[in-house]
Amino acid sequence: MALKMRIAIIGQSNFAADVLELLLDRSNIQIVGVFTIPDKGSREDILATTATIHNIPVFKFACWRRKGVALPEVLEQYKSVGATLNVLPFCSQFIPMEVINGALLGSICYHPSILPRHRGASAISWTLIEGDEVAGFSIFWADDGLDTGPLLLTRQTNVESTDTLDTIYKRFLYPEGVKAMGVAVDMVASGTAPKIIQPEVGATYDPAMFKTENQVINLQATAEKIWNFVRGLDSVPGAIATVLHGNGTEEQIRLFGAHLYSAGPVSNGKVLRLRGLTKTAWIHSGGLLIEGTDGAFVNIRRIKRGTKVISASEWFKQAEDQSITDFSEDELVKRSLLAGIWKAILKEDVESSTDFFASGAGSMDVVRLVEEVKEAFDVPLQNEQVFMAPVFEEFFSLLVRFLRQGSAGFGNQQLDFEAFTLKANKREIRVPTQLFINGEFVDAEAQRTLEIVNPTNEEVLCKVACASATDVDKAVRAAHSAFYGSWRQITPRQRGQLMLNLADLMERNKEELATIESVDSGAVYTLALKTHVGMSIEAWRYFAGWCDKIQGNTIPVNPARPNNVLTFTRKEPIGVCGLITPWNYPLMMLSWKMAACIAAGNTCLIKPAQTCPLTALKFAELTVRAGFPPGVINVLPGKGSDAGQAVADHELVRKLGFTGSTPIGKHIMKSCADSNLKKCSLELGGKSPLIIFADCDMDKAVKHGMSSVFFNKGENCIAAGRLFVEDRIHDEFIRRVLKDLRTMTIGDPLDRSTAHGPQNHKAHFDKLLEFCRRGVDEGAKLVYGGCRVPNLKGYFFTPTVFTNVTDDMFIAQEESFGPIMIISKFNGSDIDSLMQRANRTEYGLASGVFTKDIGKALNFADRIEAGTVFVNVYNKTDVAAPFGGFKQSGYGKDLGQEALNEYLKTKCVTVEY
Ligand code: NAP
Repeated sequence: MALKMRIAIIGQSNFAADVLELLLDRSNIQIVGVFTIPDKGSREDILATTATIHNIPVFKFACWRRKGVALPEVLEQYKSVGATLNVLPFCSQFIPMEVINGALLGSICYHPSILPRHRGASAISWTLIEGDEVAGFSIFWADDGLDTGPLLLTRQTNVESTDTLDTIYKRFLYPEGVKAMGVAVDMVASGTAPKIIQPEVGATYDPAMFKTENQVINLQATAEKIWNFVRGLDSVPGAIATVLHGNGTEEQIRLFGAHLYSAGPVSNGKVLRLRGLTKTAWIHSGGLLIEGTDGAFVNIRRIKRGTKVISASEWFKQAEDQSITDFSEDELVKRSLLAGIWKAILKEDVESSTDFFASGAGSMDVVRLVEEVKEAFDVPLQNEQVFMAPVFEEFFSLLVRFLRQGSAGFGNQQLDFEAFTLKANKREIRVPTQLFINGEFVDAEAQRTLEIVNPTNEEVLCKVACASATDVDKAVRAAHSAFYGSWRQITPRQRGQLMLNLADLMERNKEELATIESVDSGAVYTLALKTHVGMSIEAWRYFAGWCDKIQGNTIPVNPARPNNVLTFTRKEPIGVCGLITPWNYPLMMLSWKMAACIAAGNTCLIKPAQTCPLTALKFAELTVRAGFPPGVINVLPGKGSDAGQAVADHELVRKLGFTGSTPIGKHIMKSCADSNLKKCSLELGGKSPLIIFADCDMDKAVKHGMSSVFFNKGENCIAAGRLFVEDRIHDEFIRRVLKDLRTMTIGDPLDRSTAHGPQNHKAHFDKLLEFCRRGVDEGAKLVYGGCRVPNLKGYFFTPTVFTNVTDDMFIAQEESFGPIMIISKFNGSDIDSLMQRANRTEYGLASGVFTKDIGKALNFADRIEAGTVFVNVYNKTDVAAPFGGFKQSGYGKDLGQEALNEYLKTKCVTVEY
């Protein structure tokens, strides 16, 4: 039997451990000993741990020699293993020549550059700093020089413009290096390993970058040189620069995440003074922009200040941040618990200043910390947050912020806002009253405000900020930055999770939201709870589920032979979306649109109706608590003619989702075309026909007929604008409707027994009076209502019934958007005429039919020109079912899978191979 080659592994870290594992698979090899560094505290190097698992003797030496002389006891231990080959995969120690030459076959060593270029300890850094086009590694025979021994093999790869020290190591130098060590050992074993003398041409020795003075960046250089220096030290240790503060003090920082920036100087940046820089540097929304001596730019994404890494764009914000000092007793108990978790992971005592990574923690420890924090405190951290707060005290503050504020604490955002306190429904609710832009509540330009009136008592509830075109521009730019920045970093599944967090928060606050909606819009509280808020929550949950299921197709196209072709489509978000909504279901209209928009991966701003923006503002607060990054969702109460128009006109808005009246919808469509041809979807007015055949279930027809008109006091886009009742049951139907109307409870919408609340606002109330007057003037018979509810303050409109309505009357053609039932007769023998009459409107939103004859019902469903058809039911909408109109009721769908497509664009990719 051939003798096995006896190998000693000298080195440390995962790289050496992986080489060990690889060599263990070789039957012709025996690993006779592993020589590594001593434990740091109670942490053992992974090479030692791996060797122990495989019962390989482990030796841990702090050093091998003293004053240049090999330590006898160390030599003795080395000799005891009787190695025939030394393998040095990753070794930071000086190994004496007695050991290097002590094995029969010598020593082979890994070095991460193509020797003789970049000899020395910082070869990878210098490959990047020098702007080399290729990087690589060498395996050489160790001799008494520094990386000078004969070469056994080399491997190389191109340096990509996105490479940093980290990426090049992880993608090539590490994995290929481990494999190549195996190849090198095989070559030695088979006697085929060459010894190629290194050429002296092109040889360089580079300074060691672990010396702090070598890490200081020279900013008197071209943009490319600055970029290369930063990426050469990324992510450890980072290039050092010095900030010169206005008050004369200086602060040392480290720079990470550099890239060349060809878009030129920024217009909205704030100057940051850096030592040694004669040109300018700015903090802007994308990071820190530095101008090189050649006038080109390099952008820096992250800065380490003290022990903490922050987004460079946050520099000035961070400077204003205050750390938490006022911990409660309960929080101090949690502090001890957290210290226990850290201690268990780091295996050392934990002080306020203990740095997680400096104590030797690695990426698996981060995963463990995140898991344990989640279990102990029910706080869902992200791994990056550990990197952002690596020092114990900072980490604890982060945890406390989260515990106090929900996930808003993660961004260190102080959730400050001006609010008014709504005291209603046995509650006190703080409602923000400012615009919500880029994750913060801010005043409107020139402090403009809107008066918000309570329709139940006609009194001013509060004033809220009123956005101008300038405010809209700020919000659009914030949404634009978020779309190309933070929002892109969030994976579809994380996006879904954020939406679920938000839905959970809405659920927890549903009584508050419903109370606000009720007071602000006049919605009956129980309906607000079930529909306005309940269906909003469902919309967020429903669309959250879609986030990671947005898929394209593969398409069999014709290839140009002999080649093959792969063609596939990608569904991509559109960008910044503007949403404009009406006042009838303020929160629900917001949610229907925004949940689909966000699920598709867009960012947005919404302009809610000026008369009732309060639930939208409370919602904005919840988005921060749910953890949405700044700029993803912006809420701007304001006037349609001003802020709304600015949204439709803005050239960075790529999609407009509008719900409102047909005339404004037409106007908006023109603006979308004229501005930048933005995509738009329009959910507009309706005049939905409801047919009641004599063979219907009368009880059901009356019940649903009533709610088809009076649901949400008629402020319902799919409200049945016209009822056609078969002549045989016409009088009976009216008699029963009137009976129910007489007993309908009208009053304070917060009262649980109320069925009918006030109309939304005065202008609308006045329009309803005018609508009824026209009906009477045209000869329709007003059989009930048509006027203000007597002796009641507030915009209470009596539920109204008109009969004898003919097809050409104004009230038969136009939408009232109020509690007004318009009834016409038909004869059941002439269905064709009936269908003509039902379709004789420019609207096509919804429709309904009551009959026990399924044939009649399906015939109606075939022939009616409307986006929604209800059979023996009405108002039965669901978040999973597409909703939207035909003809002048608009186009595009809300809800269901189809709504996602409104907020996606399709890209087709063709690959020839
Ligand atoms: P609206 O007058 O058309 O207003 C809708 C929204 O558009 C409001 O936020 C409004 O701002 C804004 N707006 C007005 N002028 C604008 C402009 N020039 N540019 C951009 N935005 C502008 O409708 P509404 O009276 O609020 O709502 C009632 C209508 O909505 C009814 O016709 C109803 O049928 C329809 N609706 C349709 C659906 C559907 O799904 N199809 C659902 C609900 C309601 P202000 O707040 O300043 O007015």
